Amino acid sequence: MVVEKCQVCGNAELERILFLGYLPPVNTMRTINEHPHEQISYPAQLLYCTKCHLAQLGLIVDPMIIFPKSYPYTSSTTKILRENFAELYKECTSMIKLGPADLVVDIGSNDGNLLSNFKDGHKVLGITPEEIGKIAIERGIPTIMDYFNKQTVERVKSEYGKAKIITATNVFAHMENINEITRDVLELLAEDGVFITESHYLMPLIKTLQYDTVYHEHLRYYSLHSLKFLLESHGFEVIHAKQIPTHGGSIRVYAARKGTHRVRKTVAALLEKERPIVTEKQNLLEFKKKVVISKLKLHALLLRIKKDGKRIYGVGAPSRASTLINYVGIDDGIMESVVEVKGSHKVGKYIPGTLIPVVDESKLFEDQPEYAMLLSWHIADELMPKLREKGFKGKFIIPLPKPRIKDL
Ligand SMILES: [Zn+2]
Repeated sequence: MVVEKCQVCGNAELERILFLGYLPPVNTMRTINEHPHEQISYPAQLLYCTKCHLAQLGLIVDPMIIFPKSYPYTSSTTKILRENFAELYKECTSMIKLGPADLVVDIGSNDGNLLSNFKDGHKVLGITPEEIGKIAIERGIPTIMDYFNKQTVERVKSEYGKAKIITATNVFAHMENINEITRDVLELLAEDGVFITESHYLMPLIKTLQYDTVYHEHLRYYSLHSLKFLLESHGFEVIHAKQIPTHGGSIRVYAARKGTHRVRKTVAALLEKERPIVTEKQNLLEFKKKVVISKLKLHALLLRIKKDGKRIYGVGAPSRASTLINYVGIDDGIMESVVEVKGSHKVGKYIPGTLIPVVDESKLFEDQPEYAMLLSWHIADELMPKLREKGFKGKFIIPLPKPRIKDL
C-alpha cells in the first residue's frame, strides 16, 4: 500500500527526504548454493510530514511478507536490550505505584524479556503473534499468542481486567493503523494507568545518519513531537520522555489519560532539544546529502582495502545490515562473508539481494581476514573487545556515521 497521506494526521502533503532504492525484504534469506532467481524488492523511501513531524516509509508492505510466522527476532540477544528493560522496570516502579495485583501488559512481548523484570512482583501478560511467545510461556510468563487488536483487548479485559501499565517497545513503529492501535491501548488501560512506549528515535537517526534502520518493518520514525501529536489526539498526555540507547538511539515516552498524572519537566526539555533537528524541513533535506557523502566515503575506504588485495568479512547480520549492504552496493567481491553467532538461523543463508554467505562466527577466527566490518556498528564499543578476546587479530571497519578503520 502506497502511503499517500500521513499515517498519524492525514496530511496529504508529504516531503520526500530520502530514497534508498528498491530493497529486498530483510528476513527472506536464500539458502547458500540456491541458484539466484527472481527477487522481490520494495521502494525504500522516507517521507516527512510538516504538520505532525512524523517520518514514515512511503510504502506499507503486506505484514505476511515481512513478518512471517517464523519471524526470527529475539529480544534477549543483546546486553544493551536486557539492561534497558531492567532500567525501564526501575524507572517505572519508582514513578508509578504498582501493587502485586496490578496488571502489566506488554504488546509485542516476544520472548518475555521485558516482562521477566515485572513477573515476580506483579501480574503480567504478554501479547505477541509470533511462535517465539512459546519461549515466554515456558519462562512462566502468561502470553496470548495473537495480534494486538480490538478482539484481543476484549479478551484481556474479560480474562484479566484492565492494565495499570501497558508497554510497547520497538513495535509501535511496526504496526499498521496506528490510530486504531492507540485507541485500543487507551481502551485496555485502567483509569489511572500509564502507557510506556519505546521506538526508534528520529533525532539520533538524523544526527548519526542511521539510514540503515530504514527498512520495511519500520513504518514510522517518531520524534517526541510526532508521538505527542498522536497520543494527544486520542486523549493521552505525555508525562515523561527520554532518550535511551537501544537500537542506536530510541525514545521512551510515558503517557496517561490527560490530567491524571503530573507532567515531568523532561517533556518540555526534550521537545526543545529535538526541535531544530526534527521540525526544520531544511535540516531534514540536508540529511539526504550527508547520507550520500557517507556512502561515497565508505566506497573510498573499501577501494583502498580491495586495491591492496585484503579481505573483508562482515560481522553480524541484523536487519539493518541488509539496508546498508544493498544501498552501498557491497557484493561478495567486496565482502567475502558475514559471520553470525553460532545457532543463528541466518547461518547458511545469503544476505538478501546478494550472494554474500552468512557463516558461523568461528570462521572469522580461523580465516583471520585483515578487516572485519561491524554491521551492528551502533554497538561497536560492546563488540570490538569481545571479538579481540575471542581471537580476531585484524582491524575493524565502522561503516557509520563516519566510515573509519579502528584497531584496538
Ligand atoms: Zn502528519
